[in-house]
Amino acid sequence: MAQLALRLDTNVPGDFYVDSTCIDCDACRQIAPAVFHDTGDQSAVYHQPQAAEELLAAQKALVACPTSSIGSAARHDMRAALAAYPELIEDDVYRCGFTSESSFGAFSYLIRREAGNILVDSPRFAGPLVKNIERLGGVRRMLLTHQDDVADHEKFHQRFGCDRVIHRDDARPGTASVELKPAGSDPIELEPGLLMIPTPGHTRGHAVFLWREKFLFTGDHLAWNESTHRLYAFRGACWYSWSEQIRSMERLLDYRFEWVLPGHGRPMRLDADEMHEQLEQCVSWMKKRS
Ligand code: SF4
Repeated sequence: MAQLALRLDTNVPGDFYVDSTCIDCDACRQIAPAVFHDTGDQSAVYHQPQAAEELLAAQKALVACPTSSIGSAARHDMRAALAAYPELIEDDVYRCGFTSESSFGAFSYLIRREAGNILVDSPRFAGPLVKNIERLGGVRRMLLTHQDDVADHEKFHQRFGCDRVIHRDDARPGTASVELKPAGSDPIELEPGLLMIPTPGHTRGHAVFLWREKFLFTGDHLAWNESTHRLYAFRGACWYSWSEQIRSMERLLDYRFEWVLPGHGRPMRLDADEMHEQLEQCVSWMKKRS
């Protein structure tokens, strides 16, 4: 629970506030950009929600915040916000909200399918989200892009009996029990329409997942930059090898997709040709940053 005593001075006066436990993960700014903004190394409320839509967005940010750093002085009926996740993005792909502090507020996703749902990276194992996922059919498989965003994977496995996938090079003691640990640099068709593409760089065993040649779940490999309106990679958060990450990015040019759905950074949907052009520009930009 956020604490009024820790309310940041950077918030505008009023009901909603961010407290000093904020870790600057960006989740609230993505979910409710009309309410929260960046103050440098934390977030703050710059506009108190007025319209019903703004209020719901602020409440959704509150429940999604990984550190419970968002509070409100007044009591609110939170049922709509708690019911909002997983939230439909397009077709059969949803965003889970409810981020986890252990993955620094990374977003995770749900693919809803008759053949069994797929979680991409792990959200927080929060009761309301787990119940909503259960209502949507549970989880049959969990795809882990890399070692940093595994959060509550074990709890989801225990609850839903899902099998899990992580690249062998990113398996750690906490993911030793993961059922599938493919190795090597070749893409793997996990099932029809679902490709695991190893993308070493951010970490040694990072992988992205391509669903139906439309949705690319990129973990911390690739994201959209709202300031530059470009695809980009996190040069300052490349823990393994920037040159490897460039090579991984170049290999992605062989694939077509319309959506980039990252853990951190902004998502983006573009026409597949435009996305390909953006990716080419991203590769040239990365080479200049070597
Ligand atoms: S979601 Fe929470 S931790 Fe993340 S930036 Fe907003 S207030 Fe801070």
